[in-house]
Amino acid sequence: MQQEDLIAALRAITGPGHVLHDPASMAPFLQDWRGYGSGSAAAVVLPASTAQVAEVMALAARAGRPVVPQGGNTGLSQGAQPSGDGSAIVVAMRRMAAIREIDKPSGVMLVDAGATLSAVHAAALEVGRRVPLNLGSEGTAQIGGLVSTNAGGTSALRYGPMRELVCGIEVVLPDGRIFSDLQALRKNNTGYDLKNLFIGAEGTLGIVTGAALRMHPVLHASAHAWIALSGLEAVAPILSGLQDAFDTGLQAAELLSGTQVDLVLQHIPRTRHPLDSRPEWSLLVELGQTDPGADLRGRLEDWLAERFEDGLVIDGAIAQSDAQAAGIWHIRHSVSEANKIHGHSLSHDVAVRPSRLAGMIARCRGAVQGAYPGAKILIVSHIGDGNVHFIVHFTHDEWARFPDPDAATRQVMKLVHDEVGALGGTFSAEHGIGRKLRQELAQRADPVRLQMMHDIRGLFDPEGRMNPGAVL
Ligand SMILES: Cc1cc2nc3c(=O)[nH]c(=O)nc-3n(C[C@H](O)[C@H](O)[C@H](O)COP(=O)(O)OP(=O)(O)OC[C@H]3O[C@@H](n4cnc5c(N)ncnc54)[C@H](O)[C@@H]3O)c2cc1C
Repeated sequence: MQQEDLIAALRAITGPGHVLHDPASMAPFLQDWRGYGSGSAAAVVLPASTAQVAEVMALAARAGRPVVPQGGNTGLSQGAQPSGDGSAIVVAMRRMAAIREIDKPSGVMLVDAGATLSAVHAAALEVGRRVPLNLGSEGTAQIGGLVSTNAGGTSALRYGPMRELVCGIEVVLPDGRIFSDLQALRKNNTGYDLKNLFIGAEGTLGIVTGAALRMHPVLHASAHAWIALSGLEAVAPILSGLQDAFDTGLQAAELLSGTQVDLVLQHIPRTRHPLDSRPEWSLLVELGQTDPGADLRGRLEDWLAERFEDGLVIDGAIAQSDAQAAGIWHIRHSVSEANKIHGHSLSHDVAVRPSRLAGMIARCRGAVQGAYPGAKILIVSHIGDGNVHFIVHFTHDEWARFPDPDAATRQVMKLVHDEVGALGGTFSAEHGIGRKLRQELAQRADPVRLQMMHDIRGLFDPEGRMNPGAVL
């Protein structure tokens, strides 16, 4: 099908204003969030309903065109930008943003895939519920993208990643058929649980058009602390201690290196260090309970006093107001933004068992600084999941002086992923594979697993038109 015919056919489906094909209007859809990857496309189409997505997919199948689904385009693995010859149709989901249904007694919300996470949070709050997924991109990231990357974030410690919050899904398959599994039943043993195939598939098996999400009660008591650790070796005993003391009340536990905090304070407005000291390792803790009478602040204070005594903690501050708590989490959620402003980040989204986390950071740091003594190492870690964002950072000027930046990127990645692999970890904990890590998956995945993934993809998409170049 010729380009003009394709555009006309897409316009007939969505209406003329919702098909972009000139370079300037397509540009924002072809560049990734960090600005590291860019591609080309025949058109960007913005459907308004599942039926329109199905028609677009059927058209793409007839025309033999690749399809690249796109949500908020905040993914960090270059999964949502088409590569290749410019023949792809980008299906951007932002017009499908409706909250379809809220069923409070069942704890379920049905939404369009293009709804942002912030919109979902607001809708849940209106009925005294919440969808506990929290990340820095929540104002832009969409439910379809979050489902497709199985996003994690700071609340995964307590509630799990997206997979554990999704209880139903609606997907348009590559041939245009609609797979609808939105009954949202807690119990439903009628064969294979197909929704889980699409969660984390990064748009390679179909386009997610809707999801049923689990809602949880609002927390009426909370406590937030910024804790200076005596060292990395304190991480494991502190985590066990928090679990012992607070169990499911522990909502989030995030580790930040001093190097990372400094960059946020330097670049992000309205940030202030909560401590006078400038610790090398800070732990941000959130506790929460539904019981409004729970004295979590008092309990946290007592618990912290004991940790001072046993030497695991050297300084700390408990937020005394909602504004102070928000200030703490503003620093945490601004790290990606600050790093983007300051320079070039070689980011690694790795995970090991939490008990091995401190050793892993030390080993990776040793390996990278052995090869690149000037590299600044920034650490952001969801410690409860063993997930570490191990960031090797250079200023823009330093990076511009690298004779072969691609070779350096590959070498650093190999150093980090080898160390993580030796400790039984994963090279992609929460950001997915996308285009960034496809080679790593091909080289490092168990061959049986890899073949099964190819087989499954072939079953849904024998022509390999769904998000080609991503994942496999
Ligand atoms: C500041 C910042 C902080 C972040 N923090 C975290 C964090 O803490 N934890 C975390 O896990 N991630 C984090 N991320 C990464 C990112 O926000 C998540 O990966 C998010 O899930 C991407 O959602 P999106 O809508 O932007 O998807 P996109 O970037 O548009 O797409 C991501 C992938 O999903 C596919 N896709 C998108 N929509 C659909 C759909 N409807 N159907 C099928 N496939 C689809 C795309 O093809 C692509 O492969 C962060 C990103 C930023 C910029």
